Amino acid sequence: MSSISLDLGESSEPSGGLLKWLLGRKSETRTPGVREELSRDDRFMMRHGAMVEDICEFLARAGLDPIPDHYELAWLYLAGASSTQRHMIEAHMLEHGGISPVHASGLLDVMRNAISERELAAMVEKAKSDINEAQLTADRSGQDVANFGAALGVSVDSLSNPDAAREAVAKLQILTQNMMERAAKAEAELKERSKAMSQLKSRLVQSQKQALSDALTGLPNRRAFDLQLDEAIEVAHETKQPLSVAFCDIDFFKKVNDTHGHAVGDRVIKHVAQVLKNCAGAKAHVARHGGEEYALLFENMNASLACDLLNSARARLDAKRLVAKDTNVSIGEVTISCGVATLQIGETGASMLSRADQALYEAKNTGRNRICIAP
Ligand code: GH3
Ligand code: MG
Ligand code: MG
Repeated sequence: MSSISLDLGESSEPSGGLLKWLLGRKSETRTPGVREELSRDDRFMMRHGAMVEDICEFLARAGLDPIPDHYELAWLYLAGASSTQRHMIEAHMLEHGGISPVHASGLLDVMRNAISERELAAMVEKAKSDINEAQLTADRSGQDVANFGAALGVSVDSLSNPDAAREAVAKLQILTQNMMERAAKAEAELKERSKAMSQLKSRLVQSQKQALSDALTGLPNRRAFDLQLDEAIEVAHETKQPLSVAFCDIDFFKKVNDTHGHAVGDRVIKHVAQVLKNCAGAKAHVARHGGEEYALLFENMNASLACDLLNSARARLDAKRLVAKDTNVSIGEVTISCGVATLQIGETGASMLSRADQALYEAKNTGRNRICIAP
């Protein structure tokens, strides 16, 4: 048995410290002096104080724990939500007196998707306008070549007349000059545009990556999992190969947060993600489905093979005893409960997931730290 320490990193602000710090200063009357005379705290306060305070106030009003997803929800609500979304959230809080963690996770999904779709739409518009501009530049160059060709035709016909020939040569000289200048300009413009297009492309790839991955664990997120599942189901129905899914949920995770703080909780979520990913290797896809829950997709695997893989992950978790690095306090054993379902003939993804969820529920209700297979 080995034991590992969880490094708390920089986020070990004493609980409530930031809020107290903010609220303590809220009423202070401040006479901002020269910027250089302000301390780093004061400069931070001037720049971000109001926003951080609003985020804390939103979390308090909604009754949400201070975990990364909830901070993000608050931030999106304050800075990125459309007015319709804001009204919807306000109305929900009024009606229910707050926001439940499950509802918060759904809201976050909706808002993240809306924002990444808005960003993608803006990028597509920019790409379209760049392509149009490039087309105009190319058209202008083409027109110059056409003019030159036409002028050349006229001048060849008129070479027998010395005056007309002189005039034709002068005209060609001007046209040539114009064409060269425009060609040089067009080349520079096209270079510039192609640079902008490749920057746009890498931003697009980056933003697609972000929209599909979970920031804490680096695993694919729920949205990515759903997309992968849709594809896998199509393939499985076509090839008649087995396909299984599993939901895995950390047992009594709330206790970890309550006893050791959310920063340690985050580390535990990352640790379990890593163990699942290592065990899955190339055999299964692992995603963070939300909170302390993971979803796994086993292509060409029946429930029994999926269980073998999950059992190896459970054994690895069992072999570690976690310790919070800064306090040296033991976190103890981290266990997971899992529900597995295998795709039935003609079944939809939603139905298979719902059966896996039921199986997870059964695993929780029959003692946890176990795997149940959906009938
Ligand atoms: P069970 O064995 O029935 O699954 O009990 P549990 O305590 O694990 O489940 P419960 O649903 O009661 O609590 C889950 C907790 O996970 C509540 C929520 O605040 C916390 N949580 C969700 N996401 C995160 C996160 O990203 N970081 C941290 N630290 N906590 C999170
Ligand atoms: Mg749990
Ligand atoms: Mg859970």
